[in-house]
Amino acid sequence: MKCIICGSENIETVDTVISDFVMDRITDDFRPDCGMNRPVKLCFCRDCTFAFYDHRITDEECDRLYDKYRGPEYQKTREKHECWYTEKVNRALNEDELGLREQKRVINEIVKKNMDHELRVSLDYGGNEGRTYFKRIGTKERYVFDISGIPTIKGVKGISDFDELREHEYDFIMCNHLFEHLAEPVEMLERIGSLGNKDTVFYIEVPSENPFTGRNKFSFTKNLRMLADPLFNNIRLATYYLKKRRSPFMPMNEHINFYTVRSMRKLVGSSGFEVIDIEENIERTCLGEQTVLSVLFRRK
Ligand SMILES: [Zn+2]
Repeated sequence: MKCIICGSENIETVDTVISDFVMDRITDDFRPDCGMNRPVKLCFCRDCTFAFYDHRITDEECDRLYDKYRGPEYQKTREKHECWYTEKVNRALNEDELGLREQKRVINEIVKKNMDHELRVSLDYGGNEGRTYFKRIGTKERYVFDISGIPTIKGVKGISDFDELREHEYDFIMCNHLFEHLAEPVEMLERIGSLGNKDTVFYIEVPSENPFTGRNKFSFTKNLRMLADPLFNNIRLATYYLKKRRSPFMPMNEHINFYTVRSMRKLVGSSGFEVIDIEENIERTCLGEQTVLSVLFRRK
């Protein structure tokens, strides 16, 4: 086993399985508690501190897992295995204005701190309806790349064909909360990097998580407020955490890559880019606080 970011063989592994929820989404006739969960290894690179699962999700599995993401079918399947994930929680996530506002605040601060020129033409890679845009970015033209072809909001042009993306010269390209889901993050960085020129500034944001240092996206102890939040049913939360205690360590869920400042630096640096700024920030969301990792970079 080699680290998919730095290639090191200095890897620590923990045996676990693919989660019930993911198994149900990617296979037919899945039944929990029947030993059908595929065994996988959660790996930690002792050199660059990147953590990942050895099973790299295939294109077909990816299509099944993210088909109609957070739609009714997704919600029902997820609630079957994670009883706290009710319709109410799913709706709150889909309409998370607080999370969106917080994300814009973080991007605005890092851009304002480091860039003094106008970011006229911008692309949000994987940006759904284009709601992450705000005043400072894309002052002239705003694009979103999203293969789902979902309609974009006013002022943002949606593009669903990758080659069409090359018709524009971008000052700024951002990619939010995608790299934690990807089977091939190095290849994706090269792909996105190929869309820019020597002056293009890139921004990637991911959750700052590391299962090997106990840093999880939504730590339960850190978010005891969930218990007081009417969004959640306390009995369901308790049932879920009891079930989780009986499960193997961190079954593979939607996040298959876990970044740290060090591993993100390595990823960006070894792909021919230089880091302009990298930082960790806390963003509030409807589910509580999450620590995110933001990196701003350009071609070397
Ligand atoms: Zn590594």
